[in-house]
Amino acid sequence: MVLDDLGTSLRSSLDKLQGKTRLDEDDVEEIVKEIQRSLLSADVDVSLVMELSDSIETRALEEEPPGGTTARDHVLKIVYEEMVALVGDSTALPLEPQTILLAGLQGSGKTTSAAKMAWWFSTKGLRPAVIQTDTFRPGAYDQAKQMCERAEVDFYGDPDADDPVEIAREGMEATADADVRIVDTAGRHALEDDLIAEIEEIERAVDPDRSLLVLDAAIGQGAKDQARQFEASIGIDGVMITKLDGTAKGGGALTAVNETGSSIAFLGSGETVQDIERFEPSGFISRLLGMGDLKQLSERVERAMQEAQEEDDDWDPEDMLQGEFTLKDMKKQMDAMNRMGPLDQVMDMIPGMGGGMMDQLPDDAMDVTQDRMRKFERIMDSMTEGELENPRVVGQERTRRIARGSGTDEETVRQLLEQHSMMERTIQQFQGMGEGDMQRMMKKMGG
Ligand code: GDP
Repeated sequence: MVLDDLGTSLRSSLDKLQGKTRLDEDDVEEIVKEIQRSLLSADVDVSLVMELSDSIETRALEEEPPGGTTARDHVLKIVYEEMVALVGDSTALPLEPQTILLAGLQGSGKTTSAAKMAWWFSTKGLRPAVIQTDTFRPGAYDQAKQMCERAEVDFYGDPDADDPVEIAREGMEATADADVRIVDTAGRHALEDDLIAEIEEIERAVDPDRSLLVLDAAIGQGAKDQARQFEASIGIDGVMITKLDGTAKGGGALTAVNETGSSIAFLGSGETVQDIERFEPSGFISRLLGMGDLKQLSERVERAMQEAQEEDDDWDPEDMLQGEFTLKDMKKQMDAMNRMGPLDQVMDMIPGMGGGMMDQLPDDAMDVTQDRMRKFERIMDSMTEGELENPRVVGQERTRRIARGSGTDEETVRQLLEQHSMMERTIQQFQGMGEGDMQRMMKKMGG
């Protein structure tokens, strides 16, 4: 996750305040130093670090915590508010029809991000289209077209044309049916005058509602110059940070956001079109500080459940709450879990489970769990339909057969059966609840 190390060190310095009711200057100084150290090592611009740490220091010392607040909570609240203000208080992109222009250097991930964003808007019920105007980089057209096909979104480009401004103009006409148009532009290795002139012309041709700067998370201090120049030429309304799967830094993006007075719009964390997350400042900072992010979590749960259901029309999560909870249901649940992404990311979103707690687990703890999930899946693949429907028929004899068939061992088969009965009991408790309670519970999770 972006700024992962920053989160870890912030949490540990906050934890040092545990049990204290009053803050003294030494405490504040120590925390502020820690914050500075971690921001700088995440590549955040020096003057920005100073600005941020100064205001945290002043507020921590001057503001009177409300009665009953511990020193830790007082500082946590201030750090939270200052960090949220830094990454942008509101989401940069409302969910509405609009034209978005993408800017950035070559290789920053613009083309990939255009398709990702289009995919994201399509999951929200809007009809997106990508317009590819990059005539500079060979292969940009094919790459964009392929990714848009994979994302199942409209695409416009012209491999034979060489005037990007003309392509942009025609693209706007050709995609008149779309709600959201995402205009991809060419990049260069460095900011050259002709690149700036070209993007300014495209900007005039498409008259975007928003322009986003696409930045590689690994970019450090260079972010400042880029942000400044693009801001001066076309005006930047938000930043998409890409390649977060490759680095835990991402501080350059914070610098860019600050420089352009904009906010982070999206995070990209992989090469496929689904590897995108809309950035929600408060949720993100909560996660960073170990406060959890229930909104993200419930979105993921919802999506995973929906996907699992789409694949198997006969299966409805609601059924689980009506009748019996079979091993088949459990398998579906495990599939859904897998779809939510790596377990540690999911855990990070649960308040109290996030950050601090994960740090106490050995690094491989999550792998073990996922390893076990895979074994469970193999075991279930070796079971008969009847056994899946009614696991009670599985005795000693069948356990042996299933263990052999799945290439696991009897102990693991028994663990699976135990886990199933545990989940069954939990589900039965839910069944005692009235209609709609589940929805209400999910809503509550969503905040
Ligand atoms: P452009 O020149 O700005 O259009 O950049 P591209 O979209 O072609 O991306 C450059 C490279 O980065 C490609 O190999 C992409 O697959 C890769 N890439 C883009 N976004 C991500 C990301 O979030 N994670 C990873 N791992 N790779 C990415």
